[in-house]
Amino acid sequence: MTPILPGSTIGVLGSGQLGRMFAMAARRMGYRVHTLSPGEDTPTGQIADREITAEYTDLDAVAAFARDVDVITFEFENVSSESTEVAARFAPVRPSGFTLHVTQQRAREKAFLADRGFPVAPFAWVQSREELAGAVAQVGTPAVLKTAAFGYDGKGQRTVRSAGEADAAWDELGRQEAVLERFIDFEREVSLIVARGVSGWTITYGLIENTHTQHILDTSVYPARVEARIERAAKGIVHELAEALELVGVACIEFFLTRDGELLINEIAPRPHNSGHLTIDACMTSQFEQQLRAICGLPPGSTELLRTAAMANLLGNLWEYGEPNWPAACLMPGVRLHLYGKADARPGRKMGHLTALANTPDEALRLALKARAAL
Ligand code: AMP
Repeated sequence: MTPILPGSTIGVLGSGQLGRMFAMAARRMGYRVHTLSPGEDTPTGQIADREITAEYTDLDAVAAFARDVDVITFEFENVSSESTEVAARFAPVRPSGFTLHVTQQRAREKAFLADRGFPVAPFAWVQSREELAGAVAQVGTPAVLKTAAFGYDGKGQRTVRSAGEADAAWDELGRQEAVLERFIDFEREVSLIVARGVSGWTITYGLIENTHTQHILDTSVYPARVEARIERAAKGIVHELAEALELVGVACIEFFLTRDGELLINEIAPRPHNSGHLTIDACMTSQFEQQLRAICGLPPGSTELLRTAAMANLLGNLWEYGEPNWPAACLMPGVRLHLYGKADARPGRKMGHLTALANTPDEALRLALKARAAL
């Protein structure tokens, strides 16, 4: 298969920070980038050669966008299959509609994983209030009720501590199709990034260790502070999963590591992931360049870790008392500032992140937190 070479044009559906960092990697390597989303002056649009403003459901606009590009990828995966099918008439869509279909809906994703024997927390698919009591009996409590359609950053989730709380949770989530999942008292949360090329090559990074605050990623540390055998096991699972998903592109698999040392898959993101942002500063090849290589039919880049790193997210809350003190963080050697060009700093909105490089994971995390505190 002939590769899509520098000078070609990549179409990105979606226009947030993931598309922005992808566009930076693509433009560095001499590619052109077009982005389509409903927004204007978007994080991706600010970097792209062309920003097209249209709804994802505007099939004429999607077709026109697809005609002008050599390959299409995503930074926002909740695009309807109708739109991706229209786009696919004009340019290859990578990852494919199949990968998106599986990972667009939580219940479908869980069922896909369980059917193929991948490790997941005990769960039940709940389609009506009548099914809820049976699901609680099957899964046990405490549990987490999650809407089947993906919320993001913890939206659409409610803890169910006892059977008596189930009905209230159902009402709170808007009485929609859901998944009830056993609450996992995990030791750590870790993630693994995988890239798979058009020709089938598959490579993974190492395990990244994550903490969440109010269901939103807060910090990541790379490499994760876990035993080598845990990382080997995660890589084995993810190699198999990338193939089962027929992945072309990058995916991130989030795991719970239980206190018994068992890995359970929590979620699949069929694109680069917030926990992998530190690969920009820490690795020979970033997750975004890897996505580019994968969808263009190029060979994989080295995932070699150049320097131990930690990442701290910068949410809109940081702007509560005015503009953060950027010079304070810029003063610290080993800290790099990434901002996404968003004008409106709402609480909970991802505005940027800091990456800190150091000699040990503990040191990197301390430095990232210190730099954020100084803002
Ligand atoms: P999710 O949107 O499903 O990735 O959930 C966001 C975060 O909520 C996870 O990263 C966990 O910190 C927490 N969480 C979700 N599901 C569970 C569960 N079954 N047990 C314990 N914590 C969970």
